[in-house]
Amino acid sequence: MTPVRFVTPPIAANAYLLKEEGVLVDVGGDAAFLLKAIEKYTSVKELKYAFLTHSHYDHAKAADILQRAGIKLVMHLKEYEFALRNVSPLYVPVNPDIAVEGGEVFEFDEIVLEVIHTPGHTPGSICLYEPERRWLFSGDTVFAYGGFGRVDFPGGDARSLIESLKKLSELKVRKLYPGHEDVAEDGEHVKKAYEIAKSILH
Ligand SMILES: [Zn+2]
Repeated sequence: MTPVRFVTPPIAANAYLLKEEGVLVDVGGDAAFLLKAIEKYTSVKELKYAFLTHSHYDHAKAADILQRAGIKLVMHLKEYEFALRNVSPLYVPVNPDIAVEGGEVFEFDEIVLEVIHTPGHTPGSICLYEPERRWLFSGDTVFAYGGFGRVDFPGGDARSLIESLKKLSELKVRKLYPGHEDVAEDGEHVKKAYEIAKSILH
């Protein structure tokens, strides 16, 4: 099984489809685009869960249409609470079907997804880790080549991001599936991001 990557409008956020499991990781910013993309691989009716790494519009704007189609949205509780208290055009007001807090383990037929709370880019950012295949879906927390998420948006926090990157750098990662740009092949990308963030963020 290989996750299918969709690069979604309007600003090229990655959404991933785990077809065999009926799972999406992030949904992107354009519902019509996403639904059409999914239909090339499977039927939307076959999908059960959409995990949202965070609720910025470019990753989560298509979520409400999926929810209305019966797909369960999984998101961190803090992300939900932050968007309720702070009106920001960056955040989509998602009301998750399953609010997670980190540490939850979702078992599917072939894969397992562990929820890791990784605040910093947003208060309720999560990463998803598949421990056997060593996949890390990292949202906007960490990118390939040592990139990491911005902390200057509402709800961002540099110290939290550094702590989150430290936590992720301790994982064994074989494939990094970030929220933007390239999929990467090993865990060195995460370690590099931690080192760079430590040296330039205060
Ligand atoms: Zn973001």
